Amino acid sequence: MRTKLIAGNWKMNNTPSQGVALINEIKETANAASCDVVVCTPYICLPAAVQAANGSKIAVSAENMHFEDKGAFTGEISAAMLKEVGVTYTVIGHSERREYFAETDKTVNLKTIKALENDIVPIVCVGESLEQRESGVAFDFIAMQVKLALNGISAEDAKKVVIAYEPIWAIGTGKTATDEQANEVCAFIRQQITALYGTDVADTMRILYGGSMNAGNAAGLLAQSDIDGGLIGGASLKAPDFCTIINAATNA
Ligand code: PEP
Repeated sequence: MRTKLIAGNWKMNNTPSQGVALINEIKETANAASCDVVVCTPYICLPAAVQAANGSKIAVSAENMHFEDKGAFTGEISAAMLKEVGVTYTVIGHSERREYFAETDKTVNLKTIKALENDIVPIVCVGESLEQRESGVAFDFIAMQVKLALNGISAEDAKKVVIAYEPIWAIGTGKTATDEQANEVCAFIRQQITALYGTDVADTMRILYGGSMNAGNAAGLLAQSDIDGGLIGGASLKAPDFCTIINAATNA
């Protein structure tokens, strides 16, 4: 039985004080939830977010990290830096980073390995564009992204990885995949994990759906057999909506 995970991806929203206020608003609901709750914040918000979440069930995640330990990488943040301030998760390979910041399957793989080496849970994002879906190559594309992200990662480590299926056409667009579409791809990803690692890893690994999940559609999505939670952008910025999603995961 996999524990559901609800992760709010703030993207480039919330100053440190706004982030603390949001965490304080969701704390009670998170503490009462049976799912795991994570907030993914901009780097500058992380220390304040960790402090605000201290003693609650909320875990704090970065939205990215670098794959090298240290060195001449101006503007970058290492896994050790994240770890020292109490960060326990990081998003890796969000489609916005792939599209706007030249993130590749290779850097996604290197970052996933580095996060695991530092006991940081990687939330690895995969997902097809509308063009890929319409031309019938979505499943092949996602299988490739999953395989390359996990290249060289042992079965024991793979169990700790979280994969977020985020169809690009559904992110921030208000167009959600239907429950069936989302579950079909999450089940397909689990089949790929079975082929790579066997059923033990596939049954353990958490696979999330992301893409315009909101207070209205969360219950349906989270009730699906292969959807183990959500990566939520816009709706994670509004405490009442995010709390409704957390409660939907508890009741799923
Ligand atoms: C995301 O940022 O990963 C996301 C799914 O955003 P939204 O919920 O706004 O579509």
